[in-house]
Amino acid sequence: MEINQDNVLHTKELSYRYSEHFGLDTISLEVREGEIVSLIGPNGSGKSTLLRLLARLLDPVRGEVWLDGKELRVMSSADIAKKLAMLPQMHDHQLDFTVRELVEFGRHPHKNWFERLGGEDEEIIKWALSVTNLTTYEHRTLPSLSGGERQRAWIAMAIAQRPKVLLLDEPTTYLDISHQLEVMELVQNLNRQFKMTIIMVLHDINQAAQYSDRLIVMKKGEVVYDGIPQCVLCKSMFQHVFEIDVDIYDDGNKPFFTPRRVRCCEDELNHVEIKGGV
Ligand code: ADP
Ligand code: MG
Repeated sequence: MEINQDNVLHTKELSYRYSEHFGLDTISLEVREGEIVSLIGPNGSGKSTLLRLLARLLDPVRGEVWLDGKELRVMSSADIAKKLAMLPQMHDHQLDFTVRELVEFGRHPHKNWFERLGGEDEEIIKWALSVTNLTTYEHRTLPSLSGGERQRAWIAMAIAQRPKVLLLDEPTTYLDISHQLEVMELVQNLNRQFKMTIIMVLHDINQAAQYSDRLIVMKKGEVVYDGIPQCVLCKSMFQHVFEIDVDIYDDGNKPFFTPRRVRCCEDELNHVEIKGGV
């Protein structure tokens, strides 16, 4: 594969195997600087595994990951963390830190052992708190925050690393719709204002289509679709990957879908007697 200088991240025939039951097979992807890419696909299709490989939290059995012109394998963990931050899937950990303490952790890859945070770190911490709208929350502890505020605090920690690439694994899961949109708008803002490249796993396919430049669809450890939302959101993709029938609409900006009732449920419903009249 020719190396495209616009790529901030790319993989070459990346493969990984947990067991004989599941693996990722020869995944070759290119992500350009400044793109927002969403990974979608059914549960267990390998989205989190792919993100972990991109962050070198897992080592591939074959293939390579290149980050900003260097192969991940030859980079130190601190060098990776200066260029790439990853927010794993949340299980709503109730760690007893203040928001500020959490955000300070984001500066550690930039420091040597026991080196204290300096003026530049302070500026970046202030910036991370301000961008995530948490300046007045810096002394609050994580358990005292709402789910949406806590998610913003984790994002503040990740961006305090000043990464070029931000990986987010289901950043909106467990949030109500208004807080989901708040996180999506924050991500879009980080991309537009600071040119951060975003690769995220999303379950809400309409939100993925609305906020992403590109969608990558995974099924059983393989990338089966990769393209702009207008091309990827099609009836055949939903049938092939999710085994559902959908209607697709386009408001002239981004496409969106509504699911049709799954046929087997319709059959079951036909056998349900409705008691008492409706
Ligand atoms: P997704 O994020 O798309 O839901 P994952 O990447 O988490 O999928 O998982 C893909 C598959 O790999 C699943 O079948 C899952 O059970 C399996 N898997 C994930 N982590 C491990 C592990 N540590 N050991 C063995 N199998 C795993
Ligand atoms: Mg996952």
